[in-house]
Amino acid sequence: MTLPKKSRPQSEAAFEKAMDLMPGGVNSPARAFGAVGGTPIFIERAEGAHLFDVDGNKYLDYIGSWGPMILGHRHPTVIAALEEALSKGTSYGAPTEAESELAERIIDAVASVEMVRLVSSGTEATMSAVRLARGYTGRDVIIKFAGNYHGHVDSLLVAAGSSAATLGTPNSPGVTVGTTRDTLVLEYNDVSGLEKAFATHGDKIAGVILEPVVGNMGVVVPTQEFVTALNRLTKAHGALLICDEVMSGFRVAFGGAQQLLGLEPDLTTLGKIVGGGLPVGAYGGREEVMKHILPAGKVFQAGTLSGNPLATAAGCATLKILKEQPLYDRLEQLASRLELGLHCAAAEANIPHTIARVGSMMTLFFHGNAITSWEQASLCDTERYAQFFWGMMDRGVYLPCSQYEALFVSSAHTEDDIDRTIAASEEVLNVG
Ligand code: PMP
Repeated sequence: MTLPKKSRPQSEAAFEKAMDLMPGGVNSPARAFGAVGGTPIFIERAEGAHLFDVDGNKYLDYIGSWGPMILGHRHPTVIAALEEALSKGTSYGAPTEAESELAERIIDAVASVEMVRLVSSGTEATMSAVRLARGYTGRDVIIKFAGNYHGHVDSLLVAAGSSAATLGTPNSPGVTVGTTRDTLVLEYNDVSGLEKAFATHGDKIAGVILEPVVGNMGVVVPTQEFVTALNRLTKAHGALLICDEVMSGFRVAFGGAQQLLGLEPDLTTLGKIVGGGLPVGAYGGREEVMKHILPAGKVFQAGTLSGNPLATAAGCATLKILKEQPLYDRLEQLASRLELGLHCAAAEANIPHTIARVGSMMTLFFHGNAITSWEQASLCDTERYAQFFWGMMDRGVYLPCSQYEALFVSSAHTEDDIDRTIAASEEVLNVG
């Protein structure tokens, strides 16, 4: 296992203490750096494109809190909106106009969404969307794709890597076989697998959930045939198409991946960017479907902190900036510059690699062929990724701590930041 060359005593002490207090020392497993080894870095603060750790080191941040920080950290407009909200109160458990503003902004941006419900995490959004699909159709079966992550919803925590249309088996202790019996796992981009599943189970399928641009096995893009088949088969069989845009929403385009790809979802789940760095999730879709949710309809879903005033303030401020300022072209330029630089660095070092990118979401895979499914993603050289990760970290560049995560460019990054990252990658890949 590769370890960092640089020592970070304060992070090491903080981790040792945390290990006694929280399982694995963290509140979300990826933060423990299990996939790359070594001690996680404890963060003290962040500003713009940078993170600062408890040892006083500064890093260029390509995680952006795993997606939300598209404007960088502490964007002045977002901070001002938060301060204003904070001066009024932190939670009311009663409706506010800010909730309607955030709902309106989402509906305005995402073409397929006519009505929306705010929740507090991506997991809640997907869990609720799946319940709604089942409640609306009166059917039980949900199709998901190997390597797609939809939060820790019991029925969606089903073994990844299955190459055939098999009935799902749980992959976490505590998730019962019963919970996942109605989840069908298929391979991403496998049109014939999808056709077969509908031919066999068509009248039982409540919905198909997918990441329209996958971020959770590294970046994987759907083929046009796959997109067409998803639209066609769900419509033909009366199943709901659920686009999980928790990561891709407002990230790859203002209208989400569905806008770029021509997907026609019945339901869309959102999170990350819609909360501007605070805990928000959302699910929305056609009014006729959404009106099945309590109290308009009978499908239960609720939340003490749903539509929280601080979270809605940060979300509204972020979406307002994304609507009014043309940031997506700039993100595209920065990210394509980074893609080209990383590609040249790996090519010059003769390292088998492929880069997948959609807008400001990208993965450098250590594998010679294009990655279209989990079956292929699982063949990557993860040991080389760990070496790359720590080499970059020691040079002040904070990348995702796993081969199977996307990196994110924010509008706070500059051309100089990108060039510094490329220079660091040239050093690391040549040394490694
Ligand atoms: N769906 C997708 C596509 C995600 O990437 C994530 C989180 N990475 C989730 C759902 C779950 O969101 P949360 O962590 O906010 O529960």
